[in-house]
Amino acid sequence: MPYARSGGELQVDGVPLARIADAVGTPAYVYSWPAVRDRYAELESALDGTGQRICYSVKANGNLALLARLAKLGAGFDIVSGGELERVLRAGGDPARAVFSGVGKSVEDIDFGIKCGIDAFNVESASELDRIESRARVIGRRARVSIRVNPDVDAHTHPYIATGLKENKFGVPPQVALALYRRAAACPDLQVVGIACHIGSQISQVEPFQEALSGLLGLVDALGKFGIAIEHLDIGGGFGIVYQDEAPLDLAALGDVLRATLGRRPVKLFVEPGRLLVAEAGVLLTRVEYLKPAPAPGYRNFAVVDAAMNDLIRPALYSAWHAVEAVAERRTPTRRWDVVGPVCETGDFLALDRELSLAEGDLLAIREAGAYGSSQSSNYNTRPRPPEVIVDEGGFTVVRKRETVADLLRLES
Ligand SMILES: *Cc1c(COP(=O)(O)O)cnc(C)c1O
Repeated sequence: MPYARSGGELQVDGVPLARIADAVGTPAYVYSWPAVRDRYAELESALDGTGQRICYSVKANGNLALLARLAKLGAGFDIVSGGELERVLRAGGDPARAVFSGVGKSVEDIDFGIKCGIDAFNVESASELDRIESRARVIGRRARVSIRVNPDVDAHTHPYIATGLKENKFGVPPQVALALYRRAAACPDLQVVGIACHIGSQISQVEPFQEALSGLLGLVDALGKFGIAIEHLDIGGGFGIVYQDEAPLDLAALGDVLRATLGRRPVKLFVEPGRLLVAEAGVLLTRVEYLKPAPAPGYRNFAVVDAAMNDLIRPALYSAWHAVEAVAERRTPTRRWDVVGPVCETGDFLALDRELSLAEGDLLAIREAGAYGSSQSSNYNTRPRPPEVIVDEGGFTVVRKRETVADLLRLES
């Protein structure tokens, strides 16, 4: 439990959040490194015996200091752009442990990946396979490929974060994959290494992963008949966490099921967790600027805070629910507040209808903001992005400075 109260004051690993806010200002993202490290260890031990590689999904939170620490633990990486590959390299990550996902890889992305010697492109279409083949020929280096299969598995998750259904843009159906593998296997510029899938995000049940892995194993058998061998099976990420009252994904049970499904097959299992490793480690610290209590029945109570949808877009984008906690608890009567930001959009809210006891100037922690917070942030309304702080060994370090307006204007003329 990285976040706990002591004397009514919310702390992270024993460091008062109020102290961090005093030092770096608000809004600010705060991440507990021990929380990330412990989650990583938990997943690693759950998957023990599967020849696992944990490829952290950089898009969940690409902060260099986090990537560097994960690289030291031996993590691989799942990247979706050349920019993310650059992050991995700068953080000292090993490109030979990186897989490259995404439906729209540019020529530059592909060239960079081949030259760095990434472990696999997770190929999402026939045209992409053609492009990788021709770039590998030009560069004179074999490209390692997996085909991303869309297994048509229902992950029982939000429509915007389901990715493994027929109607989603990702991957190719198994019958198409088979044809692409035969083509790739016959091509001297390509080396077939794996099969990939990613069925969605925030999945709290074991069954969708089992179904997906079974689908991939069926394809391994089909490929075997053509003499095409597979080194690794990549079941993607999407491991769910608890934001509100979701059933937590049972990692130990997941490991058991995956081990049983794999049996004695000589393939390695890759996973691409993002949210699972970092979401619960992080909060977005924000201060109440103004209170606008309802002037009459039928109106709402608004707490206007200094963080906004540009800092955490999940509530606006997916109707996501994030817990909101007062850093110092008050004993005064509560009201039901809508916690909203300064951005000029009705969709600019962080939380709706929350029972809180608030005064202007109060510090709030928006929980589970370690994943898809800073990484999905923007400068909308010309708002400089908040700093990022890592808490470790009883202290804290700013690992990304607060942007200034000058930073935002630098490229304009
Ligand atoms: C986003 C993404 C992930 C990580 O998803 P989480 O829900 O954060 O675990 C993994 N793999 C691919 C291909 C993705 O697009």
